[in-house]
Amino acid sequence: MSTPETRRVLKRIFGYDSFRDGQQEIVDHVTGGGDALVLMPTGGGKSLCYQIPALVRPGVGIVVSPLIALMQDQVDALRALGVRAGYLNSTQDPDERRMVEGEFLSGELDLLYLAPERLRSESTRRLLERGEISLFAIDEAHCVSQWGHDFRPDYLELSRLHELRPDVPRIALTATATPDTRREIATRLRLDEAKHFVASFDRPNIQYRIVPKSEPRTQLLELLTSEHAGDSGIVYCLSRRSVEETAAFLVGKGIEALPYHAGLDAATRLRNQSRFLREDGLVVVATIAFGMGIDKPDVRFVAHLDLPKSVEGYYQETGRAGRDGLPSTAWLAYGLADVVGQRKLIDGSDGDAAHRRRLSAHLDAMLALCETVDCRRVRLLDYFGEPSAPCGNCDTCLAPPRSWDGTVAAQKLLSTVVRLRRERGQKFGAGQVIDILRGKRTAKVSQHRHDELSVFGVGSDLGDAEWRAVIRQLLAAGLLAVEGDYGTLVTTETSDEVLYRGRTVPMRHDPSTRAAARGAPRRDTEARARRVEVSDLDEAATALFDRLREWRAEAAREQGVPAYVVFHDATLREIATRRPSTLSELGAVNGVGDTKLTRYGKGVLEVVGAGQHGA
Ligand code: ADP
Ligand code: ZN
Repeated sequence: MSTPETRRVLKRIFGYDSFRDGQQEIVDHVTGGGDALVLMPTGGGKSLCYQIPALVRPGVGIVVSPLIALMQDQVDALRALGVRAGYLNSTQDPDERRMVEGEFLSGELDLLYLAPERLRSESTRRLLERGEISLFAIDEAHCVSQWGHDFRPDYLELSRLHELRPDVPRIALTATATPDTRREIATRLRLDEAKHFVASFDRPNIQYRIVPKSEPRTQLLELLTSEHAGDSGIVYCLSRRSVEETAAFLVGKGIEALPYHAGLDAATRLRNQSRFLREDGLVVVATIAFGMGIDKPDVRFVAHLDLPKSVEGYYQETGRAGRDGLPSTAWLAYGLADVVGQRKLIDGSDGDAAHRRRLSAHLDAMLALCETVDCRRVRLLDYFGEPSAPCGNCDTCLAPPRSWDGTVAAQKLLSTVVRLRRERGQKFGAGQVIDILRGKRTAKVSQHRHDELSVFGVGSDLGDAEWRAVIRQLLAAGLLAVEGDYGTLVTTETSDEVLYRGRTVPMRHDPSTRAAARGAPRRDTEARARRVEVSDLDEAATALFDRLREWRAEAAREQGVPAYVVFHDATLREIATRRPSTLSELGAVNGVGDTKLTRYGKGVLEVVGAGQHGA
């Protein structure tokens, strides 16, 4: 098939003018009948890579996806574009299933979504043998990997698809990127001949910021009110309790927030997830159980109130922001207590030493990201093996942290830990060590006669928060460690280099909390403008954009679909800026395909026209 055909489908069906980086090559390859293994970050635009070939090739595209809860929405979104889509999963009764099967066999579908558990049934296999199939797409392909974090046994059935229909091209897609996982996917799916497509993992429109945690909820509130008022967003917490408390806190401050965690009953979870997807401007406070496959395009911020357990998990979670390419924020507050808490979890975790070592390595990488004085994005991409240059759109690029020579502070702290052990045979946590350094005569200090240590009070030049920052950075550098249930501090093999062998320890100054919460200027920085081409809306355009959103909410309600299924924010922004006055002008806007032009064109032009007369 020729390129113009796929391009035409891109514009006519999806309303997009151009392919994103990487999409074109993949679409061409699969359309031409080749197998593909696609690695693309969350929000990179994987769906089009199989949807367009399925539309161009004869037959029905079979999409295997574990995201059963989202199938209805995915199918609705496709139907809104005029694509004939259906799904088969366990939520349907036999009658519904038979109907969809009939549509499949008579060639009335372009795409059929299939839950992996259906592959086990003999009837599905017989079905797939009989219909005309354009391709097999295997979404979330990392689920086939037993070493990954998300293994689904049903995925092992997938290699049978190929035996069943060796003539049909297959495309496996995932956002989970390590080379090991990639190899395993290729082996298990027998994708020996598949061409590998590895897209850049950069998400330039997401601004990465990591701030020291002081008053996490207040810091979060500041972020939400000063930069993200009325925006949709996700707040991640580690525990169910903090999810509940944080959601209640936000509601108390007048922000519409919904909790989501595995402890809620299934109906509540489903309701909260569905409200988040459907309505504008809701905040979900969630444990990491939330988000797998959330393809809401206009999530404007992802905030972490606790330290994620790995860089991979963090990148996946933050990747849920800004799928539509508009500026978005990934914000993380992290503190010493996070490190201590997670070490404790790792020490107490089940599994063998190798497993614990792996968890430790993940945590270390995450700490290194938090404490870096370099560009966050360079660090993140480097973790995925992708070289890059400073991005101009993260906190360290926008407001480079001042660094200071922390060698003497490190020596004072390490020698306190050493003396407690050598002279007293004791180990203590950060709180007591800091009290000793600062010369505080607390009850606990007196009880242990720690005021008699020679290091007592040698660190009175630094405050509590500053000492905590020192400890955090020593932990991140592996010059200090925490262990046991009480998070006691212990030296490491490399501590001696600082104590006795002249190793210097550069440290970063924590920015003050207020400055950090405000971050660097959100817009108008030169670097930012270079990376994400979005101009601010002027006053009239903002008013029109708001009216278009109201119109969209109404249209979505009437049809019972999420607002973004009607139009994306990015499309409404462009309409608000360009103010089309004819259908053909409207049709030129990115994201307006033929079906939507027919269905919504008149309504949109009325909203635009009403604004013009009113103004
Ligand atoms: P992924 O599955 O990789 O996380 P999606 O396929 O859901 O990403 O795409 C993310 C968003 O980007 C979607 O809202 C989609 O409509 C949009 N998108 C994808 N490709 C393009 C394109 N070529 N032009 C404009 N928008 C696109
Ligand atoms: Zn940067």
